[in-house]
Amino acid sequence: MQPHSRLGDHACNDFDTGLDAPQSPSNIGPSGNVEDFDTDNHLLDDPAHRNPNSFDMPPGDIEDLWLQDTIHRDDLRMAVEFMKGLQGATLDDPSLGMSNGALHRLWNPPHEQSPRVVDKVTWLAIDLFLGNPSEVTYKTNRRAILRFQLDLDLISYYKVKSLVANLTGIESVIHHMCVKSCIAYTGPFVDLDACPLCSELQYDQFRLESSSGLEKVPRQEFYTIPIGPQLQALYQSPESTSRTHYLRSESHCMHAELDHAGSLDQYSDVLHGTDLIKAFEDGRIDENDIVLMFSIDGAQLYAKKASACWIYIWVLLNLSPTEYYKKK
Ligand SMILES: [Zn+2]
Repeated sequence: MQPHSRLGDHACNDFDTGLDAPQSPSNIGPSGNVEDFDTDNHLLDDPAHRNPNSFDMPPGDIEDLWLQDTIHRDDLRMAVEFMKGLQGATLDDPSLGMSNGALHRLWNPPHEQSPRVVDKVTWLAIDLFLGNPSEVTYKTNRRAILRFQLDLDLISYYKVKSLVANLTGIESVIHHMCVKSCIAYTGPFVDLDACPLCSELQYDQFRLESSSGLEKVPRQEFYTIPIGPQLQALYQSPESTSRTHYLRSESHCMHAELDHAGSLDQYSDVLHGTDLIKAFEDGRIDENDIVLMFSIDGAQLYAKKASACWIYIWVLLNLSPTEYYKKK
């Protein structure tokens, strides 16, 4: 194998990086046509499934693209670091931020309903917390209620938060982020003390200096509620589990209709798409599996201000569309 040479050249000269490189004559491929490059299938492509006509290169060399010394653009190098981080991610990676308790619950799912012996006052605290999980709002409401009835044993914000996590198994993971929302300190940014884009410092400098560097208080935090514990919670009670039978019943009806008529009378759900039908036929998806759809798009938040963010949602296809889409 000729390490890096050929693909390295393509990576910096001929390849359309798909990031922010403008289209230019340098995108023209070996035969002089832009079409030589299958732009939908480049950096992340599986060499085994790559169109053999799109590049005249031996399979396997595609891996060389990932070597840092073949990448000459800083933004592309950073993107590759994030991709590698995602590919190698494990739940117990400490930088992911999941607690030991959350990991234990995820790896050892409960097989029975959790006992929910909760008194009326504790239910009041849970209702207040779930109504608005903001700490400030909870404390304001709690203070007002205690003014009305001083002897009420209404638990503190931290106690109710911990109780809800224990009852449901769901808790947030917290990452530090730039105070101006440029980045989160994850992946290649995890060891930085300042934002690589705007240079704002990560920690509250007053607290840091007054404690001789001991108190590292982030100026901004980003909360993520992982999907795994939410799915476990959904399947923990008969009532909510009964709502997840849609995938099985709909796929039964769909395949019966396909077998009988050869096509569907109505295509009204993502389950009726050929990708999912094929996944069922190939056995990659079983009717008892949990099937999640990941949907992501970039967004420009302000018309006259530079901003770029990515918004994503998970859609649980085991639930009926009437459960996860709301019509106004
Ligand atoms: Zn920043």
